[in-house]
Amino acid sequence: MLLRHTPEAMADRTALTLNPAKTCQPVGAMYASLGVHRCLPHSHGSQGCCAYHRSALTRHYKDPVMATTSSFTEGASVFGGQGNLVEAIHNIFTIYGPDLVAVHTTCLSEVIGDDIAQIINKAQAEGKIPRGIRVIHANTPSFKGSHVTGFSSMTEAMVRYLSENSGRRIKQINILPGFVEPSDMAEAKRIASEMGIKSILFPDTSGVVNGPLDGRFHMYPGGGARIEEITAAGDSIFTVALGRGASMAAAKLVDTKCRVPFEVLDLPIGLRATDTFVDTLRRIAGVSVPESLMAERGQVVDVMSDMHQYFYRKKAALVGDPDQLVSLTQFLTDLDMEVRCVVTGTPTGPDFESAIRKLAGDRAIVKHGPGADLFFFHQRVKNEKPDLIFGNTYAKYIARDEDLPLIRIGFPIYDRVGHQYFPLTGYRGALRLLEKILNALLDRQDRDTPEESFELVM
Ligand code: SF4
Repeated sequence: MLLRHTPEAMADRTALTLNPAKTCQPVGAMYASLGVHRCLPHSHGSQGCCAYHRSALTRHYKDPVMATTSSFTEGASVFGGQGNLVEAIHNIFTIYGPDLVAVHTTCLSEVIGDDIAQIINKAQAEGKIPRGIRVIHANTPSFKGSHVTGFSSMTEAMVRYLSENSGRRIKQINILPGFVEPSDMAEAKRIASEMGIKSILFPDTSGVVNGPLDGRFHMYPGGGARIEEITAAGDSIFTVALGRGASMAAAKLVDTKCRVPFEVLDLPIGLRATDTFVDTLRRIAGVSVPESLMAERGQVVDVMSDMHQYFYRKKAALVGDPDQLVSLTQFLTDLDMEVRCVVTGTPTGPDFESAIRKLAGDRAIVKHGPGADLFFFHQRVKNEKPDLIFGNTYAKYIARDEDLPLIRIGFPIYDRVGHQYFPLTGYRGALRLLEKILNALLDRQDRDTPEESFELVM
């Protein structure tokens, strides 16, 4: 009864957010930066911001997250953080020797109005940046947007600073994976390679935040997209951007800057979205889908049809990030489940709402942006009485209060492991998601069924 004061009766709110269904922009920017090999994320703000961003990522991945900070104190807050950033850049290259530094701003430095590009130029002019090394930046004010926006802005910054068109075309496809787990990024690469396609995937946090414990400290783990790869992304024949919110801005920029055409697809969560991803790769690369992927797909279809009776008309309520919610709604409605409520704290355009309504019908409650918080979600859960809910770790309080099963998706997940290692995307991910949903529903059925009706197979 942790949230027992949440009333079922709903009242209009215009200015108050209770338990936001999002986290702050720099968390996403820092996560994206970690997806470049030997890149050191740098937080231009106070130590507290950086400590929070690092701890959010460390608790989610159970791995150390390296990042530096401009360490603002009162002086920087009043007079600006130029001196702090120039000194930080000097210290970073003197002590930590990264191949790339990715600076993101925070609320405070944005309110001050620090011009990061100008400060980087100043550091360059003063010889604080070693020759041939780049410092990139993204503006990530957290009083708007969310971690998804921050991820998108930093991915776009990678293109702005690093991607180049050398004048030749290379038969390779850029894949922008969106704000997903390292396991999902690895899965997108695996699918492309299974199809015999040369791909450049960035950012790529696989092998960075889900690395093995080998008894040694690695300041820069072995994974991550190589800087040369991001540069060469400007020579690719095509860009496949997964997730409108997290990947579209970067895909558009590769097109305008380097003339690489692109398509934006839904995240490949579930059967249909994965089919679209695989088919797009097939079409662009002019290859056939191998038997191995067809077999994986067949297994998903098999479980969907074998267990359809357990999914049919089960009601679901979803809270999370917009890109994931669109694909998940599609998968759940394909399973003949009823999606009653979809909430994201990330501000999105009207496309999000219409995409969800098209899939879930007009009866579904869809809310996004300011006011779309966990308090609102909890109230909707009380009203809609779903059979299960999908959300991040914070949704466990609602699940406990309402005695509902929770499928953990999205960011952050602090209280479980697995998301780092096992994808939810692709056919393998769809199979894993089916298992999770079935286990949740059947465990509940086993628990709640009266003794006289209890069977070996329910
Ligand atoms: S919301 Fe703003 S002040 Fe708070 S941690 Fe994020 S960047 Fe820092």
